[in-house]
Amino acid sequence: MIDTPRIRAVYERIETAARAWEPTVLSHFEGQPFKALVAAMLSAQTREEHTMAAMQNLLRLGDTPFDLLRRSDDQLRQAIRPVMYYESKLGYLRDICQKLAERDGVVPSDLDDLMTFKGVGWKVAVLTRATGFGIYDDITVDVHVARISKRLGWVDPAITAPPKINEALKAVMPRDLWPGWNGLMVQFGRAVCKPTAPQCRRCPVADLCPKVGVGG
Ligand code: SF4
Repeated sequence: MIDTPRIRAVYERIETAARAWEPTVLSHFEGQPFKALVAAMLSAQTREEHTMAAMQNLLRLGDTPFDLLRRSDDQLRQAIRPVMYYESKLGYLRDICQKLAERDGVVPSDLDDLMTFKGVGWKVAVLTRATGFGIYDDITVDVHVARISKRLGWVDPAITAPPKINEALKAVMPRDLWPGWNGLMVQFGRAVCKPTAPQCRRCPVADLCPKVGVGG
């Protein structure tokens, strides 16, 4: 049974617990569209600490598309080497910087426009809009949001496409909770509701969670 008071209680307890956890990488780039876009693209299938290391390296080389375009492939490759698929992402980074340079460095806030950039799919575009522009029309669905929302019983486990999970979540979650949900789930998914070994015994919402699909 999903009801709004229960959803709010889960949210509030996790939000309280999250004060003791590492902030997300993306939270460092709120209101900074270019950095948010690059960090979101680099973060695909990559651990938070590796994305952060790559962003720190990259920002030493520059923090605008124009700065980064002046750098050699070797310099950029070395900077983003901590992330998964860095060779492909090097190509995406150059493409993004090139396209932005042609637009005077201005990152678009439109979802479809963002998705015309190489390496920017639905998730990266939604995350960029949320982090860079504070636009929360959608809930960013990454692996943590997908997994935990299903374990909580808020989303049918048969739904797999991130945009569909987003729609299912939006149908049950009060709108004021949409902005914080992705960041909280990244933190919660790393600290407690882990992919293969969820820590249900020390979970702050254990009494409110049906533990859908969790063995043992
Ligand atoms: S009780 Fe277990 S499955 Fe449910 S949210 Fe907590 S850690 Fe995840």
